[in-house]
Amino acid sequence: MNCWHCDRPAHGVCRFCGRGVCREHAKTLPYIVDLYRNDQGAYKALVVADALWCGVCEPKEDPVELPQLA
Ligand SMILES: [Zn+2]
Ligand SMILES: [Zn+2]
Repeated sequence: MNCWHCDRPAHGVCRFCGRGVCREHAKTLPYIVDLYRNDQGAYKALVVADALWCGVCEPKEDPVELPQLA
């Protein structure tokens, strides 16, 4: 697979959309790995702070607060 931006060999794959990106064009975004509920019944998100991101796709921001699940 080649980089989405420059067509050189990709060093990784975007965690959000699956596009290939080289080291030069790779960016990072927080990524939710898991969701769970604590003892008070509130949802918590386990987040990776610097997951690989292609810089092209638009994953939803605000991964920690989840009011729609409350
Ligand atoms: Zn590139
Ligand atoms: Zn992407």
